[in-house]
Amino acid sequence: MSTSIEAPPVAPGKLWINGEAVDAASGATFTSINPATEAPVTTIAQGGRADIDAAVAAARHTFDQTDWPVWDPHKRAKVLWRFGELLMERRNDIALLDTLEAGKTLFETQKIETPLAASILQYFAGWADKIHGETLPSDASKLLYTLREPIGVVGMITPWNFPLLLACWKIGPALACGNTVVLKPSSATSLSALALGQLAKEAGIPDGVLNIVAGPGGEAGQALVEHPGVDKIAFTGSTEVGVHLSAIAAKSVKRITMELGGKSPNIIFADADLDAALRGATSAILYNKGEVCAAGSRCLVQAEIYDEVVQRLKSNFEKTAAAQGDPLDSATRMGPQVSRDHQQTVLGYVAKGQADGAQLVTGGTENPDALGGRGFFVKPALFAEVEPGMTIAQEEIFGPVLALIRFTDEADAIRKANDSIYGLASGVWSRDIGRALRVSRALRAGTVWVNSYNLYDPALPFGGYKQSGFGRELGAAGLEAYSETKSVWVQL
Ligand code: NAP
Repeated sequence: MSTSIEAPPVAPGKLWINGEAVDAASGATFTSINPATEAPVTTIAQGGRADIDAAVAAARHTFDQTDWPVWDPHKRAKVLWRFGELLMERRNDIALLDTLEAGKTLFETQKIETPLAASILQYFAGWADKIHGETLPSDASKLLYTLREPIGVVGMITPWNFPLLLACWKIGPALACGNTVVLKPSSATSLSALALGQLAKEAGIPDGVLNIVAGPGGEAGQALVEHPGVDKIAFTGSTEVGVHLSAIAAKSVKRITMELGGKSPNIIFADADLDAALRGATSAILYNKGEVCAAGSRCLVQAEIYDEVVQRLKSNFEKTAAAQGDPLDSATRMGPQVSRDHQQTVLGYVAKGQADGAQLVTGGTENPDALGGRGFFVKPALFAEVEPGMTIAQEEIFGPVLALIRFTDEADAIRKANDSIYGLASGVWSRDIGRALRVSRALRAGTVWVNSYNLYDPALPFGGYKQSGFGRELGAAGLEAYSETKSVWVQL
C-alpha cells in the first residue's frame, strides 16, 4: 500500500479573459477534488453566462478589430513556438495540476502528456507560415486563386481525461490559422488549462486571443455553444453531450468538430509477437486508468492463443493493481478514477458484465489497499468469454475494464471489430504484414495502430468514424478544421 504524499499548495484558479486573471462576474467559486486523497485541491472561479459573454467579446474584438488574424505569419510562428517552449520550461508545475485533479501518475503527466502538448504547439508553430491557398489554372482573361483564412472565434470544450493535452491539441492549430479562442475546460480538471493563459501572454500572444473560462458544462459550456459571437465549436467529450451540442450549433450553422467516445478493438492474431502484444494490450486499456477515448477496451484474441492471453493478462492486471496508489508517488503505476461518480459507473459495468454471463477473471472492485481506503480506485478488471453483443462489449466504460472476445480467423476478427457504433481507434498485432495491412484497411476506425497502441504524433490526424465524431484534429488535416477557403476571381 502506498502512503499519501503531501500535495503542494495550489493557488486558487482564476478565469483568463482578455489577458488577465479574473474572478467570475458572480464571484462564485467551486472546489476541485484530488481523486486519490479526496482532499480539496483548491478553489476555482466558477464562470457562467456573463463570463462567457466577456470572453467572447474579448475574442471577437481581437479577431475583428486587431491585426492578429493577418499577423506576419513568421511572427505568429515564433510566438507559438515560444508558447511551446514555455510549457516545457514549466512542465513539472503544470503537469502536477493534472496529476492532482485527474489522478494521473506523474509519469503520465510529466513524461508523456505535457511534452506531447508542447510538441503539438510547436508542430503547429511550424505550420503558421506555411498555410496558403493556391492559384488555379485559367485563361488569360482572369486570375483565380484561393486564400486560407481563419474562421473567427473558436469555442473549445474539453473533457477531464487529458486536460492539458486536449487543450493544446485544439489551441495549436486554431492559433496557427489566426483564430481567437474561448476555451471551457472540464470542471473536474480546469487548472492546467487556466495556467495556459499566462504562458500565452509571456510568449507574446496578444491579449484577447486566448480566453479560458472554467465553469459547469450545462451553463458555461452551453452558453458558449449558443453564443452568436462564436463561429466554430471544437468539442471533445462524450457522444451524448456531442449530439446535444451539435443540434444547438446547427441552429446558427456554426462549424463544428466532434471528438467523441470509443469502444476500440485491439486484435491479437496467433502469429503476433505475443510479449509485445500483451504489453500493448495492457497499456491500451490501463494507461490513464482506462479513461482514454481510444482505449483498447475490446481485445479480440485468436482462439489458438486465447487461454494463454487470459492467463498472462491476468498476471499483468494483478501486478498493476498492486501498484495502485498516490499518483504523486513515483512507484505508482495506476491512479484512481476521476471521481466517486465515475468509479461507481465503472463498477456498475463490472456488475453488468457478470450478470450478462461474462467471466470476471480478476479485479473489478474498489481497491482499499491503494491508499488506506481513500480515493476512487478500481482494480483493473479482466473479463473473459465476452460475447460481442454484451453491454461491456458495446458501451464505452471509460475505465480499466477489458473485454476479451475470441475470434477464429481474419474475417471473423474484422466482423467482430466493426460490430460497434463507434469507430475511433483500433489495433492489429500480427507478424504477417499482408494480414496487418488487409485488416487495417477493413477496420472502420479513424486510427489503426499496427503492432503498437495508443501512440500519437502531432503530424498524424486523429478523429472518429461513425459515432466517434467527425472532423480531424492534428496534422495538416487539423488545419482544415480551423480555417476557411476563400475563392477570389479577378477579371483582368
Ligand atoms: P462530457 O461529460 O461529454 O464532458 C465534456 C465537456 O463538455 C466538459 O467540459 C463538460 O463540462 C462539457 N459539457 C457537459 N455538458 C455540457 C453541455 N450541456 N453544454 C456544453 N458543455 C457541456 O465528457 P467527459 O466525461 O468529460 O469526458 C469523457 C468523454 O470524452 C468520453 O466519452 C471520451 O471518449 C470522450 N473523449 C473523446 C476524445 C476524442 O478525441 N475522441 C478524447 C478524450 C475524451 P463539465 O465537466 O463542466 O460538465
